[in-house]
Amino acid sequence: MTDRYDVIIAGAGPAGGQAARDLASRGYDVCVLETESRDEFPSRSNKSTAGTFPSTMASFNIPDEVVMNFTDDVVLESPNHHFKRHQPGAVLEFADFKNWLVEESEADGAEYYFDARVSKPIMEGGEIVGVRYNGDEEVYGDIVIDATGPSAPLAKKLGVCNLQRERQAIGIEYEFEGMDIDADGYADLTDTMMLRLDHDLAPGGYSWIFHTGGDTAKVGVCYIQNQGHRDNARTGFTIDDYLQYWVDTDPRFENAERIAGKQHRGSAHIQLPTRMSTDNFMAIGDTVPTVDPLWGEGIDKCMRSGRMAAATADRVLTHSERDTSASQLKIYDQLWHDRVAPKVKKRLFMTEMLYRTSNERYDSLISSLHNYSEDQLESANQGSLLGMLRLLKFEDLSILASTAKDWFSN
Ligand SMILES: Cc1cc2nc3c(=O)[nH]c(=O)nc-3n(C[C@H](O)[C@H](O)[C@H](O)COP(=O)(O)OP(=O)(O)OC[C@H]3O[C@@H](n4cnc5c(N)ncnc54)[C@H](O)[C@@H]3O)c2cc1C
Repeated sequence: MTDRYDVIIAGAGPAGGQAARDLASRGYDVCVLETESRDEFPSRSNKSTAGTFPSTMASFNIPDEVVMNFTDDVVLESPNHHFKRHQPGAVLEFADFKNWLVEESEADGAEYYFDARVSKPIMEGGEIVGVRYNGDEEVYGDIVIDATGPSAPLAKKLGVCNLQRERQAIGIEYEFEGMDIDADGYADLTDTMMLRLDHDLAPGGYSWIFHTGGDTAKVGVCYIQNQGHRDNARTGFTIDDYLQYWVDTDPRFENAERIAGKQHRGSAHIQLPTRMSTDNFMAIGDTVPTVDPLWGEGIDKCMRSGRMAAATADRVLTHSERDTSASQLKIYDQLWHDRVAPKVKKRLFMTEMLYRTSNERYDSLISSLHNYSEDQLESANQGSLLGMLRLLKFEDLSILASTAKDWFSN
């Protein structure tokens, strides 16, 4: 290994892989340090359902080979109602997708080091100049990027992120075969991604069934340990218990079997980032954190953050005098707010409100969605204040007030 690079990236997830891809294709010397071994990659980090949309597929040239199933619709489900909306998408095979990102960036010249667990920054004059990995091994670079997701060993030590435990969303998913995808009394889930709001199954969060073709599907549960969770949780239930409870009680799983070895789990923080860069350093993806708070869409957001960090690095490294100081890299923070997660504050507030809402209100909300136009629904989903207010009813005012109270006191 050369011990000096233009850019060092810790973590080969969607964020790190995309940043490496963009930088290597611009001719920079890039090294990616990934904690997992190459043979098993990704195993522990194979965590995602990987539902994506055409804009992501097109923006990043994601090939059909890593798609398990192209979907036509999104379904929102509550305990007694559902709402179907035409919205094409693609459910990726996450492990194949991660390996594709590695291969693409390697083909452009990025160097990957697997079995390389990054532990801390190497500091000189109060600035990061390299990273230490696997105990005492060292590598140096002009810019260092932390893309390790929630573990964030560099960003935490540099005080760039402050991931809060109480803001951590946890998720678990199994893949099933033998599912009844078009069961009586439920929406037809053929070629759909379905999200279910139901505190009985996912208190303070949501559960999902993403059809992966034939009688197979990815089925999962996630929640934040927020007020909505505390109000609705069952004593002693773990997240695995909630998923098992759903499988045991929903007729769609009556003849379903878990596919061996196909289990995914992970976490991400649902919180407002403070800063994301400092001298010679940027944090991207879920290290920031970047995942969309409302529906957990992280792949697109994290790849975009990788792309914005790469664009920032390109800008400062092309100068004959490389200035990688905090004031220059701050451009990345701006790009993140403008292009990666605009309206993040409103979406966080909507998320807080949504997951405090009762099951009865979920039912009335989902059954009323038919009354709104596509444009109105899109504007609410995008975090427009007017769009959000249109969906609210008088009975939501107390939740609005309590969410606002907690929001402003934090
Ligand atoms: C259960 C679940 C379901 C999800 N479903 C969807 C979905 O349907 N659609 C969607 O868009 N998003 C989904 N997401 C979110 C999405 O998967 C994440 O937002 C995204 O993977 C984050 O990308 P990242 O590159 O920032 O981090 P990660 O994917 O976490 O990648 C980080 C990488 O860094 C490596 N690493 C960690 N620590 C170190 C270290 N110390 N040294 C070196 N390497 C290290 C890890 O092994 C990993 O390869 C889901 C998440 C979960 C948990």
